[in-house]
Amino acid sequence: MDAQTTQSYSKPLYILGPCSVENRAQMLGTARKLKQHIQHPFLLRGGLWKPRTRPGAFEGLGKQGIDYLIEAAKDIGVDPITEVARASHVESCLQEGFRHLWIGARTTVNPFLIDELSEALRGTEVMIFIKNPVNRDVGLWIGAIERLERAGCSTLYAIHRGFSAIDNTAYRNPPYWQLSLEFQRQRPDIPMIGDPSHMGGKRDLLDELSQQMGQLGYQGLMVESHIEPDQALTDAAQQVTPRHLASILQQVQWSDLHPKEGYSDDYINNQRHAIDSLDKEILLLIQERMNIAHDIGVYKQEENLAIYQPERWENTLTLALERGQQLGLSKAFIMELFQSLHAESIQHQFINKNKQ
Ligand code: PEP
Ligand code: MN
Repeated sequence: MDAQTTQSYSKPLYILGPCSVENRAQMLGTARKLKQHIQHPFLLRGGLWKPRTRPGAFEGLGKQGIDYLIEAAKDIGVDPITEVARASHVESCLQEGFRHLWIGARTTVNPFLIDELSEALRGTEVMIFIKNPVNRDVGLWIGAIERLERAGCSTLYAIHRGFSAIDNTAYRNPPYWQLSLEFQRQRPDIPMIGDPSHMGGKRDLLDELSQQMGQLGYQGLMVESHIEPDQALTDAAQQVTPRHLASILQQVQWSDLHPKEGYSDDYINNQRHAIDSLDKEILLLIQERMNIAHDIGVYKQEENLAIYQPERWENTLTLALERGQQLGLSKAFIMELFQSLHAESIQHQFINKNKQ
């Protein structure tokens, strides 16, 4: 990529390469194939420090692997990027002249580590990419950005890689899009790129997720690619060959985040008016629902009946899920909507005698 340490890269920004640096041949081989298949500029990624969720598996080459990453990047004329989680990692990378680093999801959760990294990065011009924390906490993500900013790091990107889920889902780390959108609402100045590899956790999901991120107006993608994906020592199921990756990237439509200057569109404006009035109606209906809940609350109190009636809630939810399905609304949405309605309804049924 061009020597560029200023604000941001033009869209789309790609960060491509294997999950882990494994050996010289794997790194050089992957880099050369990437260069051959992908005409667009990119940063070459490779993880060096890879403590896995449970110990015992391949844990990365550490500092020993740094030369392989640098050599491969030089060989194809791009910049290398790796993950740092400790001040010692930052020092090793700075010594080697790295201009790009990323912070992983397990690090963003920890303000102690972020402080340590911020201090190690103070006074440098490194471009830093901060992944969302593993847990669904936008505040921690923004907090990490702020800590880095306080240390004078001003070239920052966010990476959306999905969040841990308790339930079984199709994804390794479900997107919970509303959280990345909330991040962008609070920090529209920080460009957002997507990591469909760690989000999907499997090759089959890369295509769809990448396209969705393009349509959401993201600035770029970090995607894992390996010369022999099935032999990869880490994250084999989600890595793809450089050729496969090229075909995925070709399908992505990079939508503009903001309308062009002077843009006005009668069709969208009319449709938005319709949405606004529907939203108003929805709120009025919810208010009506809560008024009824309140009256029931008064009655339950007189009859000494608990607010929460398990059978009733079970029936309400089952009915809503059935109707939702008929109406083409997802199960996850209906669950969230009704759990939220129910929680609000309970609030309206609490009768505070002192306030009556
Ligand atoms: C990675 O990109 O190699 C990685 C470990 O990702 P995450 O922090 O998103 O789990
Ligand atoms: Mn990985």
